[in-house]
Amino acid sequence: MKILVVNAGSSSLKYQLIDMDTEKVIAKGGCERIGIRGSKLTHKTSRGETAIEKDMPNHKVAIQLVLDALVHPEYGAIKSMKEIDAVGHRMVHSAEDFDRTVLVTDQVMQKCKQNAELAPLHMPANILGVEACLEVMPNTPMGLVFDTAFHSTMPPHAYMYAIDYNDYKELKIRRYGFHGTSHKYVSQEAIKYLGKPAEETKIVTCHLGGGSSISAVKGGKCIDTSMGFTPLAGVPMGTRSGDIDPAVLEYLASKKHFSVLDCINYLNKNGGVAGISGVSSDFRDLTKAASEGNERAQLALDVFSYCVKKYIGSYIAAMNGIDCLVFTAGIGENTWQVRRDICKDMDFFGISIDQLRNEQKNDGSIHDISAADSKVKVLVIPTNEELVIARETKELLEK
Ligand code: ADP
Repeated sequence: MKILVVNAGSSSLKYQLIDMDTEKVIAKGGCERIGIRGSKLTHKTSRGETAIEKDMPNHKVAIQLVLDALVHPEYGAIKSMKEIDAVGHRMVHSAEDFDRTVLVTDQVMQKCKQNAELAPLHMPANILGVEACLEVMPNTPMGLVFDTAFHSTMPPHAYMYAIDYNDYKELKIRRYGFHGTSHKYVSQEAIKYLGKPAEETKIVTCHLGGGSSISAVKGGKCIDTSMGFTPLAGVPMGTRSGDIDPAVLEYLASKKHFSVLDCINYLNKNGGVAGISGVSSDFRDLTKAASEGNERAQLALDVFSYCVKKYIGSYIAAMNGIDCLVFTAGIGENTWQVRRDICKDMDFFGISIDQLRNEQKNDGSIHDISAADSKVKVLVIPTNEELVIARETKELLEK
C-alpha cells in the first residue's frame, strides 16, 4: 500500500509518498511560493533531486504538478497515479469535533470550515490542500490527521481554563494543544524502547523546534500539554512569547497604540528567543552568539531552558513520577546545550544525563543520553510526523 502524505500551508505544500509495506519514503518534496511569482517544486527520490520552476497560481495546480512529478518517466517514483492507495492530510485543529483520524467527507469538511477560525493561520491552507486533492484525485480515499487529536484524552481539569463555564461551552475556549502527531510518535517509540506495557509508563515529551510544546503522556495517553487554545501558549519559542500575563495585552495596546490583533501579532512574531536576544530565532545562531559572549543570546537560552524545565517538573507532579524524558524536533534533536541546561540539577527527580553522549551527533535513530545511574531514561528521538499521518490513514482504510 502506498500513501501520499500532504501538509498544505498558505503558500507551500509538502508531501511524502510512503510505501507502507516497508514504511520507507519513496519520494518527497515541496512546492514553494504557491500563488506568488517564482513558484518552485523540489522533488526527491532515491535517484536524486529535481527542481521544477513553474507557475502555481493555486494549490490545485501545485498538487497536479506533484502528481506529474511522481509518475514522471525520468524522475518519478511510480508508474501511475493508481498506485496511490490513499492520501493522508495534516489538519491542524479538530476543535472538540474529532478525537481521531477521520475519512474526508463533505460533512467532515463542513465541520473543518466551521472550526477554521480557531486556527486562522493554518486551517484555511490545510482545507485548500484537501480540496485541491479532491479535485485532482476524486476517487482516492483521504484521511484527515489532526494535530490536536492526540491531546483529546486530556481530562477536563487539564484542558479547562478558569473562565466562565458557559463561555467554554459556547465559544469552545479551552486548552487543545498542538504537535499531537509528533508527541504521539515519540511517546510510542519511547514505550517500545522502555519495553514495558504502555499502561505502566510515565513520559514527558519535549517537542522543541520553531514552535515548541511539552506533553505529559501517562499510560500512553496525553494527560496535559503546554500549548493551549492556540500555539502561542506554553514555553517561549523562536519568535512566540509563550505564556504571558494576559493583562500585558491591555498595557501593550495602550502604550504602543496597538489593536488586539496587533498585540497578538507582536507576541507571535516579535517575542520568543528572537525578541529576548535581538540576535535570531535560530538556536544555532543563539548558541554561537552566546559562546562568543553575547549576554542577551545567553539570557534567551536561559529563559527557554528554565521554562521547559518548569513544565517538566509540573508534569512529573501531575503524573506522580516519570520513567522517561524525550527530546525531539530541530532543537530537541540537535541543540545539545539546551538538553544539558534543561537536565541540569534534576537529580532530585532521578534525571541525569551522560555529557559525552549528549554531545554526540544523533544518527537518526533513538539516542539514549541517560547517565548510567539515571533512574529516568533520557532519550533523543527524531520525530516523524509524516509517518504517523500515513500509519493513521492506513489504519483507517483497513477498518
Ligand atoms: P519547525 O517547527 O519549523 O519544523 P524544526 O523542528 O525544524 O522547526 O526546528 C527548527 C529549529 O531547530 C531551528 O530554528 C534551529 O534553532 C534548531 N536547530 C538546531 N540545530 C539544528 C540542525 N542541525 N538542523 C536543524 N535545526 C536545528
